[in-house]
Parts: sequence; structure tokens; C-alpha cells
Amino acid sequence: MSVDEPRAAPCPWHEPVWQALTTRARQPHAFLFAGSPGVGKRQFAEAFADWLLCQQPAGGAVCGQCRSCQLLRAGTHPDRLLVEPEEEGKAIRVDAVRQLADFMAQTAQQGGRKVVILHPAEAMNLNAANALLKSLEEPTAETYLLLVSDQPSRLLPTIRSRCQVLTLTAPAQAQALDWLAQRLPQLSTEEHAALLLMAAGAPLRAVQLQELGATELRARVVEGVKALLKSEKSAPQLADAWSAVPLELLMDWFCDWTLDLLRLKTGALETPVNSDMDKVLPYMAQRVATTTLMEWQGWLLEHRSMVLGKANLNRVLLLETLLLRWKQLMEKR
Ligand SMILES: [Zn+2]
Repeated sequence: MSVDEPRAAPCPWHEPVWQALTTRARQPHAFLFAGSPGVGKRQFAEAFADWLLCQQPAGGAVCGQCRSCQLLRAGTHPDRLLVEPEEEGKAIRVDAVRQLADFMAQTAQQGGRKVVILHPAEAMNLNAANALLKSLEEPTAETYLLLVSDQPSRLLPTIRSRCQVLTLTAPAQAQALDWLAQRLPQLSTEEHAALLLMAAGAPLRAVQLQELGATELRARVVEGVKALLKSEKSAPQLADAWSAVPLELLMDWFCDWTLDLLRLKTGALETPVNSDMDKVLPYMAQRVATTTLMEWQGWLLEHRSMVLGKANLNRVLLLETLLLRWKQLMEKR
């Protein structure tokens, strides 16, 4: 990385938001960057933290040369703090927020601003959230708190209301596909489109899914679902065979298919959006009653939200139940 290159830059589709933000005369002391997973919120927050800390930013760009920029590049800036769960998927605990409060109370070591990035904000447990509220209620001068969240509705309303909320969205499909073509040049346009669909249009999520091997996992799951419907495989066999598939992905995929089923059922669609199920879903749609389908969707959404909320679930039991219910959709009329 050359000296002039900024360390982090917002995604190109967030350029207008970035321009509007960095040309303001004054910045509030607390932000909440909200939006779907993988639209580039964290990248935006990190770029904004760099910009806030740079001693001579030129418009929307950091100078890349001041002492702050050098420290940021080295990853040793003493006035920048990142708070995240100790382990991915775990809670942010009150100890971490107390450390944050201490950091906010002390004087900036470089004599300028201090910035805290807290990610993902919904991972704070209740004690941590209450501790954070104290810091928000007593802001320190020249100190900025940047919260990042996929699920802002799960934050305490009192936290949300003390932050400037900036909702960051996904780009239009064409821009997302262009960006993916640059990031994943080894894949075909069809593969980019399939990943983007799986990622609900969020480009960074699409890259993450590619890294997880989601295309192969999904093909395996689709095969399994077909085998289940033909009674060639049982629910326990599949729950076992899918042990490597992240639960969040499974819940998302069943939600996507269910949405297709509902749209086929109501005539809103003639062929499924999810083309890897283009035979199965129309077949199912003809045989399932709308009320049964809606009941199932309710169950699915409730359990998806429990999975996303990191509820302590028995994975095997959940999957077996899900698969049995899925199969029974066509039996109950
Ligand atoms: Zn600088």
C-alpha cells in the first residue's frame, strides 16, 4: 500500500452518503450505521473513523501522511478502539463496554479526536447495552462512537435515539454485478448472479458466501431436499449430512424458498426466483394449502430470528423438526 492510498474506503455505492457526511460542518458524537448484512457498513464505519482521526483530511479523503494516518496504517493508533465479541457470534460483554467507557473518558493521546467502533452493536448483552447508555448520556468532547448493526431493531430504543442513524443500502443489481466481477474474476456471470441472489443483493455478503463455499453447500442442500420429498432420505439423515452447513444459511434458504412458494401460490410469480428449485417449488405450490404455507412461514421466521439472535438451540433437533414440517407441507391440506 502506498503512502497516499487511504487505508479503508467506503464502497463505491456509498459514495453519495459519504460525500454528504464528510462535507458537514459538525459531526454528532454517536452514529449508528444500519443496514442488511454485507452491504459495506463496517467498511464505511472504518473509513469514517480514519477520516475523523486524520489531522489534515482533504474534503472526503484522508491525507495518508499525517502522524494519525501513519499510526492507523500500522494498526497502532492509540485513539482508535474497536469493540467486538471475543469470538464471532458471541455476545459483547459488559467488561468490553467498561473498557470503552474508560477509553472515552481519558484524554486523546495524539491530542486530537478519539473514535470507537462497536460491531455488531446488537451483540451487546443487556448489561453491556446499559453500560453503553451511560457513555452516550455523558458524551466526551471530540469523542465519536460508531455503532454498526445488521439488526438495529434489537438495540435498546434509548441507544438508537441517542445516535444519528445512517441506513446504508445495497447497490442496484448492475453495479453489484460489476463490482463482483472485479472481486471474483474467476467466477462466471451466472455464478455472480447466483451468489448475489443468495446474498439478498449485498455484494460483500456475496463474497463472504463464496468464501464459505456456499454454492457447493447449497447444491448439496437442494439435493437433500429433493431426496427428502421423494422419501429417499430421512430428516435425521439430512440433519447429519448437513452438519457443515451454517444454520443461518439453511434458515435463509428455506425462507427464500417459502417466499417463492407463496408467490407461486398467489400467482405473483410463474417461475421461482430461486432457479435451483425450479421444478420442486411449482410442484409443491400446487399441493400445499395457503393457510398451511403461512403457518409454516410463521414458524420458520420465528426460528430464523432465534438463530440470528444466537439463542441456545439444539441444532439437530431444530433441523429435524424443520425438515419434517417441510415434508408435511404437502400432506396437510
Ligand atoms: Zn492524515
